[in-house]
Amino acid sequence: MTDPRPPKVSFVSLGCPKALVDSERIITRLRAEGYELARQHQGADLAIVNTCGFLESAQAESLEAIGTALAENGKVIVTGCMGAEPEKITERFPNVLAITGPQQYETVLAAVHRVAPPRHDPFIDLVPPEGIKLTPRHYAYLKISEGCNNRCTFCIIPKLRGDLASRPAADVLREAERLVTAGVKELLVISQDTSAYGLDIKYAASQWREREVRARFLDLARELGTLGAWVRLHYVYPYPHVDEVIPLMADAGSGILPYLDIPFQHASPDVLRRMRRPAAQEQTLGRIARWRDICPELTLRSTFIVGFPGETEDDFTRLLDWLDEAQLDRVGCFRYEPVRGAAANDLAELIPDDVKQERWNRFMARAQAISKRRLKRKLGTRQQVIIDEVGPTVARGRSKGDAPEIDGAVYVASRRPLRVGEIATVKIERAEEYDLHGTAVGF
Ligand code: SF4
Repeated sequence: MTDPRPPKVSFVSLGCPKALVDSERIITRLRAEGYELARQHQGADLAIVNTCGFLESAQAESLEAIGTALAENGKVIVTGCMGAEPEKITERFPNVLAITGPQQYETVLAAVHRVAPPRHDPFIDLVPPEGIKLTPRHYAYLKISEGCNNRCTFCIIPKLRGDLASRPAADVLREAERLVTAGVKELLVISQDTSAYGLDIKYAASQWREREVRARFLDLARELGTLGAWVRLHYVYPYPHVDEVIPLMADAGSGILPYLDIPFQHASPDVLRRMRRPAAQEQTLGRIARWRDICPELTLRSTFIVGFPGETEDDFTRLLDWLDEAQLDRVGCFRYEPVRGAAANDLAELIPDDVKQERWNRFMARAQAISKRRLKRKLGTRQQVIIDEVGPTVARGRSKGDAPEIDGAVYVASRRPLRVGEIATVKIERAEEYDLHGTAVGF
């Protein structure tokens, strides 16, 4: 007699938002086929680990997660970025059942079917139309393309994920529409290089709601903005055409948040050249000043790498000076890690760890002071805040200038209980280095 229980799968999702979207797709497919998700490896019919292979530390975390899943369950399927280099996994864990690379949904599903065949039941297709999401219900990542045409010397993502492959605009818009219908209030647009969207498919038009929409960064942003949710743009490079989206950000009715996440990575021309960064030659300081003239509310977030091979004290000082000038609102910083297979490791001498650490400390102190100054300007203003979490006395949310998980928060006192996903108007009363505090004055 066949087991009447639906098969159970435990799932570990590691890595960036792009990997999270892959996880959501796999889980959606599994749920559509009647699999159940288990909270623990123990007792599940099998475990899936979606790995990240970006940095050595991420690879170590992935290997540890595989080891735990093997110890606690024994039947383990590995997918994600590390799957592109299977020997790194099989060296340590020869007994994993299958290894697949990023976005190989079909192969993951086929491996799952072999280990725990799906239960046949006509009532199992009860998956919500927006799929299964791993983010809270009120925000969702929207992946508009895969892969990348750039060849930054510190990055192995193009090796792992291939060249740029954009989704047709209508596909993206239909997914966004389903998400908004299901209650999503904020769409986080992600890809490896959002501003390059559509280049590979020659900006082809596709049909959405009786009209043709071209696969262009600006056209897609404009249409996403009509859906009634906040739209936040991540991983945008400062190509000249990005200027066109700034007026949309200045128009509160457009739906496009005045927020740009631009990974600048450095400011010294020598380092940028050795990094082979896209749009490295653009005159970014002048552009930033013009963007802020058009859209004074604009929040700029970025990430940087210090201690890149061959970075001199002079390069680093240029970076600090640039930061002072650019006055970026939100900044993250990594100490360079020599990822195996990255061209950057052989470009110049590696910087000793103590120097990297010392530069990181100086960089973060500077960035923190700027963030504090920028946030202070919001004292006394009214900000719209989307609520992420509610507590007994104070709720935690984010303004239009804060992306989930990477930026600061707004702590909100309210005379009536707030709900998760609600957007409240909040009067800002206190500013810290990264966070704001205020009181809800409108609902
Ligand atoms: S833009 Fe550069 S860092 Fe980003 S994915 Fe492409 S190659 Fe890697």
